[in-house]
Amino acid sequence: MLRRPGTQKDVELSVPPSALDIDDSRLVPGSDVDVRVRCESLSDGIVVDGHVEAFFRGDCRRCLTPLAGTVSIEVHELYQVTVTDPDAFPIENDQIDLAAMVRESVLLDLPDAPVCRPDCAGLCPVCGADRNTVNCGCSVSAPDPRWAGLDAIRDQLPE
Ligand SMILES: [Zn+2]
Ligand SMILES: [Zn+2]
Repeated sequence: MLRRPGTQKDVELSVPPSALDIDDSRLVPGSDVDVRVRCESLSDGIVVDGHVEAFFRGDCRRCLTPLAGTVSIEVHELYQVTVTDPDAFPIENDQIDLAAMVRESVLLDLPDAPVCRPDCAGLCPVCGADRNTVNCGCSVSAPDPRWAGLDAIRDQLPE
């Protein structure tokens, strides 16, 4: 492709995570990672544009309900014969290795702390009831405003 700048090649693949060297319990077992990209050659590199999709599972971090979902990642990557762009991947032996790019994209995008829905009410801290389905009536004291900043930080951390 490098001999003829402007050449395009569409790549559509479904690959098992193990073939990408991904061993992550967040991926749904037995599901493939879908890769749909268009490669276009420049005089000194290849631009790869498209989508990567993977299926994940987990437990809602607030109510612990098992959940599953899809991460759909838009990719725009550059491969270079002589790497001058700090974000570019190398072209080695006239080959581009999509696996490393797909692996990085998937691992970056898999959720660490998924929620079953944005307004999930979570479990009651007093009795443990699922407040999405039960109004347990426990009196949960109002949070001390001095801790609000800490709570905001804690909300961003995986549990
Ligand atoms: Zn939930
Ligand atoms: Zn309760």
